[in-house]
Amino acid sequence: MNNHRPDRCKLRGSPAGLHLFNRTTGMNVLLDEIAVPAALHSRAPRQVSIALTNRCDLACAHCYAHKSQDELRFDAVTRWLAELDASGTLGVGFGGGEPTLHPEFVKLCQYAAQETRLSVSFTTHGHHVDRELSERLRGSVNFIRVSMDGVGATYEFIRRRSFAELLVRLRDVRSISRFGVNVVVNEHTLPELDEVARVSADAGACELLLLPQMPVRSLLAASADTLQRLRRWVDGYKGPLKLCINESSAEGFPTCDPLVQENGLRAYAHIDAMGVLRPSSYSGIGVQLSDGSVLHALDQLAHGLVENDT
Ligand code: SF4
Repeated sequence: MNNHRPDRCKLRGSPAGLHLFNRTTGMNVLLDEIAVPAALHSRAPRQVSIALTNRCDLACAHCYAHKSQDELRFDAVTRWLAELDASGTLGVGFGGGEPTLHPEFVKLCQYAAQETRLSVSFTTHGHHVDRELSERLRGSVNFIRVSMDGVGATYEFIRRRSFAELLVRLRDVRSISRFGVNVVVNEHTLPELDEVARVSADAGACELLLLPQMPVRSLLAASADTLQRLRRWVDGYKGPLKLCINESSAEGFPTCDPLVQENGLRAYAHIDAMGVLRPSSYSGIGVQLSDGSVLHALDQLAHGLVENDT
């Protein structure tokens, strides 16, 4: 039984003020002149990403996800979602691995859409989003992030999948919800950013998320020269897409974050496919959730009561 009215505005109190959010209309307003008493600050992170599975049928060199058969149980994820929703989280982002490979992926999106007021997004390589999947997901997802590292031969070298096929898949993605494109920025993809942005806008994307390459195994992080050239590209970009960058790479870029006072675990947390709550998907520290409360695990993380796997 759904006791929520999904289209009702959701309120979140924080040191930054009172946050009004509606996942359906996209209304996202911060009333920063309202001083919210500390006792009324929401305890849960504003946004939580959940790696539903470690499975993926691609093998990108820059991938940081552990490749294994681990995946989260439906009942565990729905319990965490209910707790996060009730505790002030505004959005959940499903990822992996490749989240569309989770056997109950559609049911989890439907649960979040029908039984919570969380905004639902997912990150995908896109190659499984066909007409059938898009029909099942429509109405249960608010935003999709599709990975596109370069265009044409560069994309195919990195992803080992057809670029033409990806463009076909983007039509189905677009039929589900608003979507954005994620691009890992390295020396191969940087020269193609103009073309990535043009192709993405033509396909109907509204956002380009820039992800400077992180060090993984033998791969080095994006070089200082690459980052400098990326800053110049951002400064010169005049296209229609909203540009975003991940928080850990944002230094030196022209960002604007009115919620800057709400940072750390109040802003974001990640649950990996083994049920470990972490400050981010790259972090080597975490707390095993098992059947326990997410808020309790957040307190443990905040107080350093963590397991270290690095
Ligand atoms: S598609 Fe994503 S999860 Fe799969 S290998 Fe590539 S980066 Fe990793």
